[in-house]
Amino acid sequence: MAKVSPFHSKLPETDVYHDNSSCTLGDNIESYNRIAGTGGLRKCSQCATL
Ligand SMILES: [Zn+2]
Repeated sequence: MAKVSPFHSKLPETDVYHDNSSCTLGDNIESYNRIAGTGGLRKCSQCATL
């Protein structure tokens, strides 16, 4: 597992950000939908446990 810079999806239903490269939810975000930063969102529950 590796900590990475926070990123989130630009899709409108997005409500969390990710900060771990091992997160499958974060990994599912298409690269063209990724935005750097937290976006003021809460942390992904899966990232929080990694
Ligand atoms: Zn995550």
